[in-house]
Amino acid sequence: MTTQALTDPFRWQCVYVAEHSVEAHIICGLLSQAGIQTQLTGAALYGAMGEIPFTELQIRILVYAIKLPRAQQILLNYHQQLQTHWHCPSCQEENGPAFDYCWSCETQKE
Ligand SMILES: [Zn+2]
Repeated sequence: MTTQALTDPFRWQCVYVAEHSVEAHIICGLLSQAGIQTQLTGAALYGAMGEIPFTELQIRILVYAIKLPRAQQILLNYHQQLQTHWHCPSCQEENGPAFDYCWSCETQKE
């Protein structure tokens, strides 16, 4: 993280780099629910995917610097939530956080 947030509270800061537009929109939804305005940047948004290296397809999610700590907290919660459930690598069943083995096919959690 940079320290630019201290100098300009309304500078756009990147809070997260999403792997794809679906994830970007989930995260924007979470942030806007919390009243945080977001802006997306990334080549993937412009529809020229065939001509752009894969690494540039990532989408940056920007928030005002003044909202950055709050946005980071929301993203932390989001990731913790993702970790509480896991999908079986073998049968794709969803398993709760308390299970180390798939309830359906008994494959061990990765
Ligand atoms: Zn399974």
